[in-house]
Amino acid sequence: MSYKIETNCIQAGYTPKSGEPRVIPIIQSTTYKYETGEEMGKLFDLEAEGYFYSRLQNPTCDMVAAKIASLEGGCAAMLTSSGQAANFIAAFNICSCGDHIVSSSQIYGGTFNLLSVTMKKMGIEVTFVSPDCSEEELNAAFKENTKMVFGETISNPSLCVLDIEMFAKAAHAHGVPLIIDNTFATPVNCRPIEWGADIVTHSTTKYMDGHAGTIGGVIVDSGKFDWDANADKYPGLTTPDDSYHGVIYTKKFGREKAYITKATVQLMRDFGCVQAPINAYMLNLGLESLHVRMPRHCENAQKIAEFLAGHPNVSWINYCGLKENKYYERAQKYMPNGSCGVISFGVKGGKDGASKFMSRLKLAAIVTHVADARTCVLHPATTTHRQMNDEELIEAGVTADLIRLSVGIENVDDIIADIKQALEG
Ligand SMILES: *Cc1c(COP(=O)(O)O)cnc(C)c1O
Repeated sequence: MSYKIETNCIQAGYTPKSGEPRVIPIIQSTTYKYETGEEMGKLFDLEAEGYFYSRLQNPTCDMVAAKIASLEGGCAAMLTSSGQAANFIAAFNICSCGDHIVSSSQIYGGTFNLLSVTMKKMGIEVTFVSPDCSEEELNAAFKENTKMVFGETISNPSLCVLDIEMFAKAAHAHGVPLIIDNTFATPVNCRPIEWGADIVTHSTTKYMDGHAGTIGGVIVDSGKFDWDANADKYPGLTTPDDSYHGVIYTKKFGREKAYITKATVQLMRDFGCVQAPINAYMLNLGLESLHVRMPRHCENAQKIAEFLAGHPNVSWINYCGLKENKYYERAQKYMPNGSCGVISFGVKGGKDGASKFMSRLKLAAIVTHVADARTCVLHPATTTHRQMNDEELIEAGVTADLIRLSVGIENVDDIIADIKQALEG
């Protein structure tokens, strides 16, 4: 039986049998017991399915991953210790030294560093393209050794809406998958796989957890990308893995499971960036109310965006729910029920004005975090993006006066009153 997304937020991933716990149990165990060494040996050879060590797989994490796979319309998923780990593993699972990535330039600062600095040290190069580039410009960014395309549904913090269909079309024309970080939209508002994305990642730290309680990430595979049809590009998936007696992932596990299985048994085994079972349990509590929280985040953000747009001390505002916004039409196409609760705007007086405004706020807190139940603000140019030079800041869509306002689910009149007194103080 198939259910709608609201039902899957609550029910997917775990169906207890008679007498079993009603709620996803926390299996806080590093290891699992077997009757014979032979049984365990088969697990190590990937000849049998089962748990043997929680660095590779844990039942609590798997149940929560299965729920997120269902929400995104994917066929397999794995949790990671953070969103950073999710994006790294998602990319490194199909890219190695000598390869190339095409990425939208407007992405999360941590991911920008990951791609442009750390992965570069590993011999993986990236070409950044504007999310507003033409189809021709996008196609021109590909090289012989390009292995993937990357972008964010709604970019953090610049709030560009990506033309997922166009990016998917270009990726597929070059025989590579499109990986979309869907953190800000969440599957409640946008399901990138329905628009052609092959792999979806999240920082579950944000709306999915929703309460600023746990750092986490997830990778979801649609199972749609045909690795074998592009076998020469993806030897890691289509030729023998020496670390498992020569297993070929696409042959042994099929198109639907090859990518996540490789990421689990090879990269999790070697990097060990697992999500703790207790964190997965807390993430699941957040997922159960995701479909109730997201509409409220969007409704509050819309009202606040309209208030800011009409205020004389605000120099500009970026929220794709406003009709005059550059991304309004695109947001209506990809997220007709609302985008997210994050707004960016400039306060008159530049960097100085921004900092004065922020220190006058009483309800909205100054924190690095974004996308949780509590309203919070951040000044990216002096915090999350301070490693970038002026040119890179402009390229990333972050101006010196930009304030990122993450609208929570408090009473909207209280939030507006706080912003008003801080703007006029
Ligand atoms: C926060 C964030 C990340 C990184 O996630 P962490 O959980 O902080 O490691 C990646 N992508 C986006 C869009 C984010 O907002």
